[in-house]
Amino acid sequence: MPMLGKVALEEAFQPPWAMESATGSNIGLYVYPEREAEYTSGIGNIQDRVVEARATGVGYSICSLTVPGVQGETNPAAAEDFATRSNNWIAQQIKAYPTELGAFGAVSMHNPKQAVIEMTRCIKELGFHGIMVNNWQHAVKASGEQTLLLYDGPEYDVFWSALEELDVPLYIHPAAPEGIIKDLLYKDRPYLIGPPQSFAIDVSTHVLGLITNGVFDRHPKAQVILGHMGERLPYDFDRTHRWLEQVEKARGMVAKKTIYEYFKDNIWITTSGAFSTIVLQFCVNLVGADRILYSVDYPYECYQDASDWFDNVNINTRDKLKIGRENAKKLLKLGEYKDCNAPYYQ
Ligand code: MG
Repeated sequence: MPMLGKVALEEAFQPPWAMESATGSNIGLYVYPEREAEYTSGIGNIQDRVVEARATGVGYSICSLTVPGVQGETNPAAAEDFATRSNNWIAQQIKAYPTELGAFGAVSMHNPKQAVIEMTRCIKELGFHGIMVNNWQHAVKASGEQTLLLYDGPEYDVFWSALEELDVPLYIHPAAPEGIIKDLLYKDRPYLIGPPQSFAIDVSTHVLGLITNGVFDRHPKAQVILGHMGERLPYDFDRTHRWLEQVEKARGMVAKKTIYEYFKDNIWITTSGAFSTIVLQFCVNLVGADRILYSVDYPYECYQDASDWFDNVNINTRDKLKIGRENAKKLLKLGEYKDCNAPYYQ
């Protein structure tokens, strides 16, 4: 018997008018070959996931724009247009399933002030539960040189302040490297692009940038969600902690608190695409069950695999309920949804 009323929050879609970028030449980077047909169907509609969710005890799924999404668009005006159209599309789609589907908004991060306007519209007008960005914003400098925008500089303070004020989380999702990073690091080792390596490395670098450049000190109420069991950061806590505290603070690093404290106060991790009992137990010990959230990573992964694992995982019932649904209810301020209070006996 699966746990009913689970919440899944890294569940991707691509609007039909943008399908080429989700199913084109990059598809092999992200999808097991035998799941390509299932993926191609599931990424472009929201009905497939509802069927899977109902069969596996997931009561509520949060849909988000897939990679590369708005962050892959180097032209600011095109990025803003993509975000607006995508947000409008998913808002319309989920209306058919109000007790089973919600959404995270997409925003262009070229211009933090414009991002605030679209984020506010997503939360206040479209009723979304937060924002998801696909890691860095790809951009082009005035010189024509490609660059990456990370969100840890003071110019993004206006964005983080608005996130705090709206009281919603920001999910930072991986995306593939491009340009000089791809050329230098991965040209001769292309199998490491994506889930095997680059995704976790790129997101964890970005998040450590947020921490060490003081974003969470300037914005103590900001909440960030990381998928894939924390993009490997928990595994390295001891070493990161010692170096930041004993070396980097003396060198001028501005972060006031420890990495353990930021993970307690500002960061959440999900089980998306990481269905491992030993890793879950490790993360429960390190970051605590209060900061872990169930997720699938559909349609790159399937609801059945996630549920087969989680429903049978050997952790205490209280922690399992927190991870499966109770933490998400609070963080995302979910109202009544399908099976949200169903009894659960392990
Ligand atoms: Mg994903």
